[in-house]
Amino acid sequence: MLTLGSDDILLGCHADDWQAALNGAADALVEAGFVEPGYRDGLHAREAQSSTFLGNAIAIPHGTPESRKFVKQTGVRVLQFPDGVQWHDGQHVHVLVTIAAQNDEHLDILRQLTHVLDREGVAEQLAEASSAADVARLLSKPAVMPRLDSDTLCVGFPAQDIEELTLGAAARLRQSGCVDNAFIGAIATSAPTWLGNGLWLASHAHGVVQPALGVATPANRGLSHHGHPVHALFCLAASGESHRSLLDQLLPLLDRGESESLVTQTSAQLLATLAGETASTQTRRARVLNPHGLHARPAKQLVQTARAQPMPVNVRLEEGSATPVSAASLTKVIGLGARRGQWLIFSADGEQAAQALDAVCQAVDDGLGEKVAPFDGGRESEAPAAHNAKPAAEPLADDTPHTGVAASPGLAIAPVFVIRPPNFEYPADADNPEQEIARLQAALKEGAAQLETLVHNAPGGEVADILSMHEEMLDDPELHQAAIEAIREGRSAEAGWWEAIDTAAHAQEMLADRLLAERAADLRDVGRRVLGVLCDVKLPTAPDHPYILVMDDIGPSDVARLDTSRVRGLLTVRGGATAHSAILARALGIPAVVGAGDAVMALPDGGMMILDGERGRVTHQPSEDRLQRAEQQLLDQQQREADAWKTRFESAQTRDGHRVEVAANLGNTAHADDAVERGAEGVGLLRTEFLFMAHASAPDLATQIDEYRQAIDALGGRPLVARTLDVGGDKPLPYWPVPQEDNPFLGLRGIRLALTQPEVLETQLRALLMAGKDSPLRIMLPMVKDIAEFRAAKAIYDRLLSEIAPSQRATDVQLGVMIEVPSSALLAPTLAAEVDFFSVGTNDLTQYTLAIDRGHPELSAQADGLHPAVLRLIQMTVDAAHVQGKWVGVCGELASDAMAVPVLVGLGVDELSVSARQIPLVKARLREFDLADAKASAQLALAQATSDDVRDALEAR
Ligand code: PEP
Ligand code: MG
Repeated sequence: MLTLGSDDILLGCHADDWQAALNGAADALVEAGFVEPGYRDGLHAREAQSSTFLGNAIAIPHGTPESRKFVKQTGVRVLQFPDGVQWHDGQHVHVLVTIAAQNDEHLDILRQLTHVLDREGVAEQLAEASSAADVARLLSKPAVMPRLDSDTLCVGFPAQDIEELTLGAAARLRQSGCVDNAFIGAIATSAPTWLGNGLWLASHAHGVVQPALGVATPANRGLSHHGHPVHALFCLAASGESHRSLLDQLLPLLDRGESESLVTQTSAQLLATLAGETASTQTRRARVLNPHGLHARPAKQLVQTARAQPMPVNVRLEEGSATPVSAASLTKVIGLGARRGQWLIFSADGEQAAQALDAVCQAVDDGLGEKVAPFDGGRESEAPAAHNAKPAAEPLADDTPHTGVAASPGLAIAPVFVIRPPNFEYPADADNPEQEIARLQAALKEGAAQLETLVHNAPGGEVADILSMHEEMLDDPELHQAAIEAIREGRSAEAGWWEAIDTAAHAQEMLADRLLAERAADLRDVGRRVLGVLCDVKLPTAPDHPYILVMDDIGPSDVARLDTSRVRGLLTVRGGATAHSAILARALGIPAVVGAGDAVMALPDGGMMILDGERGRVTHQPSEDRLQRAEQQLLDQQQREADAWKTRFESAQTRDGHRVEVAANLGNTAHADDAVERGAEGVGLLRTEFLFMAHASAPDLATQIDEYRQAIDALGGRPLVARTLDVGGDKPLPYWPVPQEDNPFLGLRGIRLALTQPEVLETQLRALLMAGKDSPLRIMLPMVKDIAEFRAAKAIYDRLLSEIAPSQRATDVQLGVMIEVPSSALLAPTLAAEVDFFSVGTNDLTQYTLAIDRGHPELSAQADGLHPAVLRLIQMTVDAAHVQGKWVGVCGELASDAMAVPVLVGLGVDELSVSARQIPLVKARLREFDLADAKASAQLALAQATSDDVRDALEAR
């Protein structure tokens, strides 16, 4: 939001020409501390590309993407030129809104200025304004637009009467953050008004956070109230007069006489109707591909294309407001705020509408004058798994060790259970809807019976709860109705059902509430069960005895959902040791071998297997002799674990008393108390990206504070090291699309990505600082390559420290960096002078040092952190830190490697942060040697040539 204070506005400026005015603007940004002097060239370069004149005597100079490196902090300076300046495109400018933008903030600023551009007389008023407050008022007055978009719709609500329908619409408004509980209470007691033509209006101004219009349609077509049909109910969260224009837009619905059709419309269709798209309106969708969205230049191109058409063309955002705008209006198009990846809906009426829409969509596809990359729709659009295309691999030979990648230590001995992805084949369309509906109903019945048996046989607890929830989902009349409607439109029972499931799951995923969003996966599970009945495909049912689970690959969410009481081990075709699923497997204490190749999918269910997660080996159908040895080994291991458990609360130190802190790596703040219970002396790495991944959009300040507070409370005064958002590369965030990159691991990820949206980083830092009140808090930045990245983040951190009163935030706080990129280890002396601490992320440091993708199915076994090159980088890091009196932790997987522990201690590492389960074992390992041994091990390791040599030398010692 553009909020201007009097310091931001410089009145009474004079310039002989536009270059001098631009230089003045650059100086103002430098003076404010927003940019370095080099940004001036960026402003000129941008102006040379095309004019930043916006309209109404306002120009918005901003730098080129290349000049963003000079931006220290996002900010705006407004310069008023009462005499005006002749701009290079012939326009007359009175106000420069000059932007120091680290990312696309100028889009938001542009958007907020659009209301100024439409107002007559503003240019003169801006020229004549005699106080900064007047200029701020003229520029900043936000236009309060009532919301009407897909989030305020409630389609096919199973209401028994109009009161329930009203409450459904009001609840949707509350979910979208437009109203609070007071509105729900007020609307519940007010009678809806009959508008005519099946339409009703309920309205209240109480408890309104943002004016909005909710629209609810009933699932029951026959619903009536006081003798009138109920086809749709408008629920207005009113505030002043702002909703007037929206209601005007809906007036044609009253006259059209087709309101009955609203009852059967999907959200997208309803939005189109509300947007005024009638049966004669033609529409086309096009996706914004421009990396920085529809900013001024591409928007101009779009407007020019729209103006060249013989009829008016309208445009709206598919997921945005139901109010379309003219595609020929630059301010309106910019006002959409369309970002890369969003869909635009163009509409036009008339004879040549189709050609006109094709032309504008083509222009958008072509990039509107910019070089664009196709949109990577994320996992869903990934090419089919490569192994599916290969011929079936040979099964493993009996009693012969087969090597994969060691991903989670421990031995498992159990029969295998192989999950092969079910293959549902069905026709999309069918001729006989009644027959298809009967098939669907029979399948639903069968699905319900299956679930009932499963609930009955479930061991209780979470599994039974989840299965009962599936039963309820299967019973949902809304789902049935949606499927039946699709079948009546010509879809087969399978296609109609899956479309209904997929739409509902997608809507669920969009919910801000994390728990609700997670239920999308359950909906799909339920959907597949019925699909299995329809297609006569048996879904695999896990055995009720312990087993080793074999899968193609396993995502973090699969690991989190495992039935840990029965899964003894994990074996996958793909994956690497430091992939996040492997890290989670370690956190759950499940031995795992990953990247074992296609052959494992050919294993018959029930065959006995020994899985050695330490060495990364599996042996199918072992001989009696081998089995006995493995069983003895398992008993020994269990004894070691039991001994370590008994001493887990003793302080972590070597035999001769050298202290090394042992902390826990966490992905989920809810597990902090478990970590303490396992003897953790703090949290050494909180991977905050899991919190962001669990939400459909970036979690807000309050959500983050709650979340961090949970960990901090559980730690009871022990330190928390929280890493700021580390996404990109192998950790995509669906709502933060990154342009397709040839080498995403070397691309926009970690701190680089975070700095492109500094407001997200700022909210996270603010949440951490506020949650960390009264507790020791350490914040660390991921993937930092040099001091400049650290400084950019530190500028935000320092500002927050001065903004938030010390009584409201952490005071025992440190800001450090992760050493994950070789350059930062090489430059550790320059970093050590300014950071508070280092934490070595050996997973990434190893991949970047050895140039081996950490998830590579064949190579990642060689990505061994005990490689002498990695160890030398750690040595440089520790030495540089200790010279400056700073501490060093290791939070990569190497920290829990029994062989690596003495080496790291010998190199001088002060803290080891490992998965919570490993804590007792790592503490026990520390007690097995003294510091002198550790130093000798470190020297020995540093002197070797390869990681195998290091391991051999240490083993021989
Ligand atoms: C690392 O790279 O070692 C690390 C701890 O971070 P992550 O595994 O989350 O990338
Ligand atoms: Mg990392």
